[in-house]
Amino acid sequence: MKVTLTTLCACLALALVPAPAAPGVGASAAVQRPFDVKWIHGSADCGTNTDPPLQVYRFDDDTYILRQSKCLDYEAPFMYLLIGRNKALLLDSGAKTRDGKALPMRETVERILAEHSAARRRARPPQLIVAHSHAHGDHVQGDRQFDDPARATVVGTSLEEVKSFFRFVNWPTRAATFDLGGRALTVIPIPGHEDTHIAVYDPKTKILLTGDTLYPGILVVNHWRHYRQSINRLANFAARNQVSYILGAHVEMTSRPRVEYPYRTVYQPDEHVLQLGTSHLLELRDAIEAMGNNPRHEVHADFIIAPAPGSAQQ
Ligand SMILES: [Zn+2]
Ligand SMILES: [Zn+2]
Repeated sequence: MKVTLTTLCACLALALVPAPAAPGVGASAAVQRPFDVKWIHGSADCGTNTDPPLQVYRFDDDTYILRQSKCLDYEAPFMYLLIGRNKALLLDSGAKTRDGKALPMRETVERILAEHSAARRRARPPQLIVAHSHAHGDHVQGDRQFDDPARATVVGTSLEEVKSFFRFVNWPTRAATFDLGGRALTVIPIPGHEDTHIAVYDPKTKILLTGDTLYPGILVVNHWRHYRQSINRLANFAARNQVSYILGAHVEMTSRPRVEYPYRTVYQPDEHVLQLGTSHLLELRDAIEAMGNNPRHEVHADFIIAPAPGSAQQ
């Protein structure tokens, strides 16, 4: 049985569309750009916290990473803004806020895009697309701010809407290409944590965005068989494409190996770095394959595999 499934996973992964190389963009890009950022990480007393609601980190000229304050929501997700010549992709729009106030998502993203266009003497900013790593509530709360079709296109959160927008054929076995203009992203179906989950690979920076499927924290698996196939698919993709960093949507581990923060903490003074590498993906793949059809909770140095009850019976 194990051999059959493993073989099946490998075959499915081979069906993936290879990452397209945009002329003059991907091949010459520096691969291992350093991360020189200290993320906001909440406070023991959020009443006296002075962090901004959103931290903006400029990864490179066309790539921004946003982090929501832990004092607004313990999930403190990371959001990604990738800018091309014609379009910009915002992947995820944030979690709810404890004080009920709207996160300044739209104004922050529109300011970045306006400055980006002005610096390049372009008449107008690129068309903004708001899509999601997956449909869980801590990644979609800012969607309503982008309701105006003149300002942005918001991709719906149902599987049908996701498949139709990215023009997936044979979900979840085939990747799709989504071109921002000189920056053709590869969008890879990776259900398992959640049914509509996608990964995004950027040929410019060679970052692989993995949402809640792989990050330094507790990897909740809701559908074991799908997750197993998705991790095999991602690992096969990473074997054939250069990956600089694997970037997920949360940090929940401390900087000490195998130690996570307490659930729902709003203060992570010594948290794990956001970035992971291909070696982590391979470690996850190997651990999952070793479990086969019998998933179990397993603590690793930089992530924790956490199958939900009943996930193997799906
Ligand atoms: Zn999630
Ligand atoms: Zn999440």
